[in-house]
Amino acid sequence: MTGTAVLELRGVTKRYAGPPPLEVLRDVDLDVEAGEMLAIVGPSGSGKSTLLHIMGTLDLPSSGTVRVGGVDVGALSDRRLAALRSRRVGLVFQQFFLLDGVSALDNVAMGLLYGGVVPRERRRLAAAALRRVGLGDRLGHRPTQLSGGEQQRVAIARALVMRPAVVLADEPTGNLDQAAGARVLALLEELNADGTTIVVITHDRDIAGRLPRRVELRDGRVVADSRRQEVAP
Ligand code: ADP
Ligand code: MG
Repeated sequence: MTGTAVLELRGVTKRYAGPPPLEVLRDVDLDVEAGEMLAIVGPSGSGKSTLLHIMGTLDLPSSGTVRVGGVDVGALSDRRLAALRSRRVGLVFQQFFLLDGVSALDNVAMGLLYGGVVPRERRRLAAAALRRVGLGDRLGHRPTQLSGGEQQRVAIARALVMRPAVVLADEPTGNLDQAAGARVLALLEELNADGTTIVVITHDRDIAGRLPRRVELRDGRVVADSRRQEVAP
């Protein structure tokens, strides 16, 4: 599987008209291959979340191209883009974004709503995904009945339930204490060992240092990529 780009960004720039006009991403080139796990690091405001949103097709670049699984997302209709996103990309955020009123099982099953999966099958797959993240005994719990670390694991199960080619996580341990954060990272590493491609945005130097590849952003530019020998500043 090596040599297969799951994500391919070329000359990606993101501008906001303002005022004041802002160039939040500048000429970003980035390839993520199937099976990789990498950290995206950089100071606050350097464009990490914007980059993750663009990689996850939640946002489009002002210029440049984004390919997900070889498909140029800029060429797709909204409907096709939504379908591609739900099948190929799993998203995890610092704030979990779970629905409070429903069980862990239903929160995860919601990840299958756009996948054309019938309800009974949705629940079966959701239960399997929750078991995968170690929450097989919490299917009926609501988010308020779960710890922060457990809530994040539910969010990871929801991201995984469509078996996406890539999971994108924006500061997934940012709201967790150290022990819960370590468990979430260990889970992501385990999923990667099983073949899921994973991109993690993190402030945490320990986490970044542990991952096989680090991409560093500053002022919207990639200033270092440990996979490449040299990146011009
Ligand atoms: P990071 O995640 O690295 O902290 P972000 O990608 O969230 O950085 O933001 C990068 C910059 O883009 C920040 O200066 C932020 O204020 C700006 N920005 C983000 N979203 C918008 C928007 N919708 N309109 C204008 N500026 C924005
Ligand atoms: Mg951010």
